[in-house]
Amino acid sequence: MNFKNLFSKKEDKKLLAIERRESYYIDSKNVTNLSTMSGENFEVFLRDLFIYDGLKAELTPKYKDDGIDIIVTRGKLHTAIQAKRMDIYKNYNLVDKEVVNSLVGGARRRGIERTCIITTSIFTEAAQDIAAQEGMELIDGRQLYYLIAKIRPELLAEAYFEKLGYIKCPECGTGILKKREGRQKIPFIGCTNFPKCRHSMKITEFETRYIKQ
Ligand SMILES: [Zn+2]
Repeated sequence: MNFKNLFSKKEDKKLLAIERRESYYIDSKNVTNLSTMSGENFEVFLRDLFIYDGLKAELTPKYKDDGIDIIVTRGKLHTAIQAKRMDIYKNYNLVDKEVVNSLVGGARRRGIERTCIITTSIFTEAAQDIAAQEGMELIDGRQLYYLIAKIRPELLAEAYFEKLGYIKCPECGTGILKKREGRQKIPFIGCTNFPKCRHSMKITEFETRYIKQ
């Protein structure tokens, strides 16, 4: 896989100083929920991923977006990005050629040189054919994870760890929340870093916050 055209060099560091201070939407929870998050949150997630990678990235206004969700800038080069969050097994949705055509048209109207579609799903053959003709970069669900692994590998590790059922202590960030017993054998949730970390909560609170959703 080759993302070098879009994502390799870290330029415009000064330009990004302000944006870098924003709170990022990319955390391990969102990595786990990529296929179920809203389309809008998916766009924010990708924008923040690009910014973290040292690129300038902006969301387009919702109204009349020309089929473009994010504009990524590296030096003088602009890339129009269409973000397609889809759950393949919900609607059997693949990204088809209409999306490719719409992005090609939109980028042309705005004079943007490069185009790219990023999805959690995959692309139809027709979509891939037209994209190849147009020099458009397509990033499917697998490649998206590859991209995350390249830019924020620790997020994937964290997401996988959480999938195993471990919940990180919100206070110290390194311990794991675990059932403990207090005086009179009353159980509560504490941190594995106890006594260094004294974070604790009631079991009911733990269940509402982390188990029941
Ligand atoms: Zn802790």
